[in-house]
Amino acid sequence: MTPLLTDIIRQAHRLRSHIQRLQEEIERGPRVLKSRQEELEQARRHHQEHFDTIKRLKLKQREEEGALKQIEARLARLEEQLLTTSSAKEYQAKLSEIAQARERKNALEDSILATIMELEEKTAASADVEQSWQQAQAAFGQYQQEAQERLVRLQQELQLSQEELHRWESQLPEDLQERYDKLVRAKGPDAFALVKNRYCQGCHTLLSEQCLLELRNGIFHRCFNCGRMLYPEEGM
Ligand SMILES: [Zn+2]
Repeated sequence: MTPLLTDIIRQAHRLRSHIQRLQEEIERGPRVLKSRQEELEQARRHHQEHFDTIKRLKLKQREEEGALKQIEARLARLEEQLLTTSSAKEYQAKLSEIAQARERKNALEDSILATIMELEEKTAASADVEQSWQQAQAAFGQYQQEAQERLVRLQQELQLSQEELHRWESQLPEDLQERYDKLVRAKGPDAFALVKNRYCQGCHTLLSEQCLLELRNGIFHRCFNCGRMLYPEEGM
């Protein structure tokens, strides 16, 4: 049985709207992927910076401890020399050198303590940082798999919808085909409108009783105001 022309218009509207939504969702995929990749990269950087900081602090601690040993050895030498110094002038000079070395030693000890405390703090957080990084990787892996499955589903549905659309549209009367194609090419799903309570749902214009009556009988009409191809509510 040949369907009413208005039924074809109705199905074409439904299917073309659906196809457009599917295509938009498919096109959104790469953008979502990019933002997820950026999130993963941020997590990777955070993880790397954490352990780089620990390495840097350990090196700093080693260097400062080396410097401290040198200054301690120097202090011991200076104090020894002080005992054998005979001239008062030289004695004063040694005392001043010793004071400077002590100051340097104190500063190094403070710095070493601060470094050790920072290292302890960072090290205590390492397990959490490591866990966050593992979780970020797992979440990304799961996202990738789900996105792939979703894409396959969307593509299958797109193909089925396109086939169904083709089945409906191939039943359009030949004399309408060219005009129909032109409208659809220009406006996509917006080339169609449902008529509800005599109002065109594309532009909310009131249509004539006569127009509605003819639509119910399957006669082709475009809205006199917006030009959309019309179809009546189902079962009316
Ligand atoms: Zn209209």
